[in-house]
Amino acid sequence: MISFYPGPSRIHDEIPAYVTDAYNEGILSASHRSDAFVALSKQTIELLQEKLRIPNDYTVFFTSSATECWEIIAQSLIKDKSHHFYNGAFGQKWFDYTKRLRNAESLPFNLNEKPDLTQLGDISDSDLICVTQNETSNGTQLGNRVIRSIRKQYPDALIAVDATSSMAGIRLDFKTADIWYASVQKCFGLPAGLGVMVCSPKAVHQAAEIGEKDHYNSLTFMTEMMKKWQTSYTPNVMGIYLLKRVLEDSDTISKTHEKTVKRYEAWVDFLAETKTLKHLVKLKEVRSYTVIPVSAQPDIVQQIKNDARKEGLLLGEGYGQWKNDTFRIANFPALKKKEIKKLMKFLQKY
Ligand SMILES: *Cc1c(COP(=O)(O)O)cnc(C)c1O
Repeated sequence: MISFYPGPSRIHDEIPAYVTDAYNEGILSASHRSDAFVALSKQTIELLQEKLRIPNDYTVFFTSSATECWEIIAQSLIKDKSHHFYNGAFGQKWFDYTKRLRNAESLPFNLNEKPDLTQLGDISDSDLICVTQNETSNGTQLGNRVIRSIRKQYPDALIAVDATSSMAGIRLDFKTADIWYASVQKCFGLPAGLGVMVCSPKAVHQAAEIGEKDHYNSLTFMTEMMKKWQTSYTPNVMGIYLLKRVLEDSDTISKTHEKTVKRYEAWVDFLAETKTLKHLVKLKEVRSYTVIPVSAQPDIVQQIKNDARKEGLLLGEGYGQWKNDTFRIANFPALKKKEIKKLMKFLQKY
């Protein structure tokens, strides 16, 4: 089965061999306080910085998932209040989780709307502005330019970015925000169970100033431990090992970005030529490069999903209000050209 599900998704072909290597190298039985683990952690973080072009003064943390990052950010980085700017289910979930822990305000916008920053209004009381760079539920994205203009308009607040389904798939301008996070079962092409969180010096400083120390994953503890390339709990060593091996093989992000955009454009052209299928998002400027949402009549969507399985193709379900009349196609780097061709050929029949 080829998984075009937008996470967990297709994993790299080399994974089984790397799992065997991990076993043979003995890293899977090593303590997370051992020199072997520290070396692995350091190498992996340096590779992340190099391949994804993460600034050297930003700190990289390992977490268990993007969901855990929602919690870390809320508990450790908000003094009074956060503001959440979103147009889909993941942005909404982030807001909902944060509201349980801290004061949070939501600023939703519509699917086919270019986010209007004047809509943010007076948010001078904000510690943190939260945006979803790639909204996996409906296949939209906020470009680097939008994030840059938020920074310009609100130079004092921290900006946190959910890049769960785009990090390692497209070029992100890390300098324009303070906290970025992702989990590896999306664009990294790895098995689930590991998250990556990237923090600017300003974010680390704010965590220290707030000084929240109530949790095993309080950012203050995480920062202390990461000075020694370690984590505050036993981490997913296998996941970190696989991440290292996959990063060693991978192109620089500029090259991957080009590949992703080219494939995205091929999908847009393909959909424009079919009669029954349409890109869910009308406004071109906000379309995601890494998740393609396809809309059609509900009976056709059902038919396609059923037939696809028989052909060994797994499509992503529609999400929330788009459950019945859309399906989603992952455009993640681990997918092969011939697999995309196969899916296009299959979809041509409808
Ligand atoms: C998948 C996803 C999440 C949740 O990731 P987990 O690894 O399940 O915690 C959060 N935000 C976005 C945008 C996602 O695509």
